[in-house]
Amino acid sequence: MDKGVRAERMRGARGVYESNRKKIIATQDVCGICGEPVDKSLPYTDLMSATVDHIIPIAKGGHPSDIDNLQLAHRKCNRLKSDKLVNVVFVGNKKNEINNRDLPLSADWLSE
Ligand SMILES: [Zn+2]
Repeated sequence: MDKGVRAERMRGARGVYESNRKKIIATQDVCGICGEPVDKSLPYTDLMSATVDHIIPIAKGGHPSDIDNLQLAHRKCNRLKSDKLVNVVFVGNKKNEINNRDLPLSADWLSE
């Protein structure tokens, strides 16, 4: 596959994710993780603002853009969930350790 075609396909996948993300935000009102309503008027800097969560994380083989793998979630819930994903996954019979604790955390609210 030449580079141009490859880049084209990646843009395509990104476009699907973006349009599905907008669809989720437009059609869902409740956080898929904690079950509480999400206030979509909050700015993205607010911990309770709306984000779109991957139900099965991409790192665990979840689909990156399929609407069936996306759900509305509070930013806080999404971060708490992803922070717990220090896990071993199997791809075929190959063992992979996934550790996303390397993600930057901007606040220490996790320690409560
Ligand atoms: Zn929530």
